[in-house]
This record gives sequence, structure tokens and C-alpha cells, in this order.
Amino acid sequence: MEKPAGSGPSLSSATIGEAWARIRGRLREEVGEVEYRTWLRQMTLAGIEGDEAIVVLPTRFLRDWVRGHYGDRLSALWQQESPSVRRVDVRLGPQRPASDDAEEAAAPGRDGPPRRNGLAEPLVNGKGAGRTVDARGDWSAPLDPRFTFDTFVVGKPNEFAHACARRVAEKPALPGFNPLFLYGGVGLGKTHLMHAIAWAIRNGEAARNVAYMSAEKFMYRFIAALRSQSTMEFKESLRSVDVLMVDDLQFLIGKDNTQEEFFHTFNALVDAGKQIVVSADKSPSDLNGLEDRLRTRLGCGMVADIHATTFELRLSILVAKATAAGVEVPKSVQEFLAHKITSNVRELEGALNRLIAHANLFGRAITLDGVQEVLQDILRAHDRRVTIEEIQRKVAEHYNIRLTDMSSARRARAVARPRQVAMYLAKQLTSRSLPEIGRRFGNRDHTTVMHAVSRIAELMQADSAFAEDVELLRRMLET
Ligand code: ADP
Ligand code: MG
Repeated sequence: MEKPAGSGPSLSSATIGEAWARIRGRLREEVGEVEYRTWLRQMTLAGIEGDEAIVVLPTRFLRDWVRGHYGDRLSALWQQESPSVRRVDVRLGPQRPASDDAEEAAAPGRDGPPRRNGLAEPLVNGKGAGRTVDARGDWSAPLDPRFTFDTFVVGKPNEFAHACARRVAEKPALPGFNPLFLYGGVGLGKTHLMHAIAWAIRNGEAARNVAYMSAEKFMYRFIAALRSQSTMEFKESLRSVDVLMVDDLQFLIGKDNTQEEFFHTFNALVDAGKQIVVSADKSPSDLNGLEDRLRTRLGCGMVADIHATTFELRLSILVAKATAAGVEVPKSVQEFLAHKITSNVRELEGALNRLIAHANLFGRAITLDGVQEVLQDILRAHDRRVTIEEIQRKVAEHYNIRLTDMSSARRARAVARPRQVAMYLAKQLTSRSLPEIGRRFGNRDHTTVMHAVSRIAELMQADSAFAEDVELLRRMLET
């Protein structure tokens, strides 16, 4: 039987509590005593949910501050402790008593092994058996109150997925929309949309029984049921829901037993006229490693993808979030951020939150100069230098031509077009001048490069599939 992913080497050899104590100790060393006491001492670990560690802070301000300033570092430290933890969610929540003394003892370099601290119960037992704390609770994982339709900003890249989500929320189990399969890259709003559906259905007139969970949680539950020989209960309780939502289904790849169980649950629910909503990072047909019959069934309803954000969407999201936070963010700053932070909405949001925390803390207005300073690290990461060689290599690979054809004299369309794409990207992603770029492409004239750039821009306007292709290349090169 497959092992739960939460039981990677680091988690099975030590409790989560110990890992957490080490992480706190590391942070304390890194940031120094004063900063640690000011911002981080009040953090407590509420648990691990799926691939997320949930860290809570007692005030909104502390939460925003820690999220903005230490969120990435916390994620990185967690990942070192346990690769199955992919991110850290910093939330507002009640504080658990954690005495200073316990904390002192937990810091590395002091006497004795780190003690468990700031954690109510271990979530996975020492042997990594995958027993979750909430095995007793009801089916659904908690829904994030921020993730509703009201707060979801609609734009070209997500309008179709959004419309489908709305439809399902209004009328679950509508033929043609069951299952609803949402897919897209990380941080683009899949979980947000799923929670929004769940909220809307729960608050609807016919208040139905909605179960939302990550695929990982589904697996943990299933394995726990197998161990405690309560699979019948597991099946029955699951089949009593009206709407089953499973997030990040790609997690089930390679987990054949769990996939099988999910498949049966899926069929039972759909046959009973219940709604299924699933998300994944790829379309059903691209989810390699998924059982064919499951893949087929998943693709039977509505499949909706969320595309990478556009500048316009990023801008609208920033406006919406700043307004919601009641903070004035100058247009120039909005545009700067929307232009610079293109990877996903989560990062964009993180950058904005940090700006807001800063502005609040120092009682200063947000300015373009201030932004460069406050977001230095984030901006630097996004400024990664891409070289013309990298661009040529990636583009050649993508279009399946030889790298040497980037500089060859061949003019056949099959090589000329990719070459133009590479020139276009070189202009977009590097600070090289047109003559310089021309030189790197087999000593071509700068007017050739200029022509390539405008030609590709034109084609992108006219042909959205082509535009997507080029965007994809750009994203690959930027990350
Ligand atoms: P995914 O599940 O696709 O990785 P999430 O749903 O967790 O992404 O989104 C990441 C963050 O970005 C969340 O805080 C979410 O609220 C925010 N977000 C994503 N898309 C939008 C949107 N269209 N409007 C508002 N917020 C968004
Ligand atoms: Mg998600």
C-alpha cells in the first residue's frame, strides 16, 4: 500500500512538534532576539493540512506582518523539515499558551533535544502512520473566509472557470457540469474558486452538505480507515455528502489504492445525482499516471482551465485587494507591481500585504521608491537575468529545431518562425540592444530583429493559441 506523503523521511523520524521547534529556533537565530520577540514569538502551529502548515497569530496586524515578512522563509524552513509541506498559511487565530521557558529549551544550541512546543497535538504520529488529528471531525476541511465569489476578481484568464464555478454553485449536479474539473498553475485561484463554490452552496437556500478536502487529506482519511478497519464507515459517510470537492487531485498520481477508492466514491456520488468538483494542476488528459477510467470520467463533465494572469487581471486584483484593505496604493505602484510580479496571484498578494504592513507600521504612505526598498528581495528574484543562450535553447527545444538553426541562414518557416520568437523574447526578457541581439542570431542586422519583434507581436494579437505558446515560453524562462 502506498505511504502517505506526509510520512517523508523527516516527518517519520521526528514529530511535527520537534520540526516546528527547530524551525522556530532557526528563525530566532536568523532574525535575532529582538526581532524574534517582536514579531514571531506569538506564532503557534495549528496543524498541517494537506501540503500546508497552518501557523496562527493572535492579531491581524501580526498575521499580516509575519505573512509578508517571514512567510517565504517559513515555507522554506518547513520544506527542509518535510518536503511534503509545500507552503505555510499564516492565519489569524487564538493563541495557545506556550511558555517562554519551553521556547528557550526548544532553541537549538541549548541543552537537551528540542521539545515540542506551540503545538496542541501531533498530526502524524511518530511512525508516520498518517493519523490525522481531525479524524474524528466532520468531512470537510475548514473553508477560508476570504475565499468567496465576492473577493474573486474576474478577468479574461479566469472568466470561463469562474462562470462554471458560479453555475455549479447555483445549481449543483446540473448535467454537463458534473464533474466540474478546474485546472491551472499554482497560485492562480483554484482553491479560491472551490471554497467560493462551497461557501455559496452552504449558505444557499437548500443548505447542502458540502465536503471540501485536499486529495492528500482524502488519502489520509482512507488510509486511516483501512488501518482502523473502518472502511465501511468511511465509504458511507463520504457517500452521504451532496457535494464532494477534492482539491489538488494530482496528488493521487501514483497512489493507486486511493485512486481506486476515489473512483468508486466518484461513481457512487455521480450516480446518486451528487455534484463533484475537482481541481488539479493539469487537464485530465495531461495528468499522466492517472488511471484511464478515472481520467475518462473526470473529463466527462465540464473541464475549465485558469490561465496565467494577464497584466490587466493583475492590476484589477491589486486594486480590489487594496480597496478591501482600505489602503491607498498609487496607480504607479499598482502598475509597477502588476508589471514586475507576474508569476502568480499568491505572490502578488504577498507583495501587496507586505507593503500594507509596512505602511501601517511606519504610518507612511506607499510610494514607488518605498516599494523598491520594501520588496527588494521579491523584486530581485523576479529580475533574474535570462541569457540569450537560454532563450535560444528553450525555444529550439520547444519547437523541436536544432539550436544551431537559431544562427543559421535557413529561411524555411519551420525554423524562421521559432527564430523570430526567440528574438522577440530576447528583446522582452533581456536588456540587450537590437544590434546585439542580431549579432547573437548569426550576425543578423538589427532591422531583422526589429521586424521579428513586431511580426511576433502581430501574430500574438491575431492568434490566441500562438500567443499562449509564446507566453508559456516566457513564463518558463522567467522562473
Ligand atoms: P491555487 O489553489 O490555484 O494554487 P489559490 O486559490 O490558493 O491558488 O490562490 C492563491 C491566492 O491568490 C489566494 O490568496 C487567492 O485568494 C488569490 N487569488 C487568486 N486568484 C484570484 C482572483 N482572481 N481574485 C482574487 N484573488 C485571487
Ligand atoms: Mg490550491
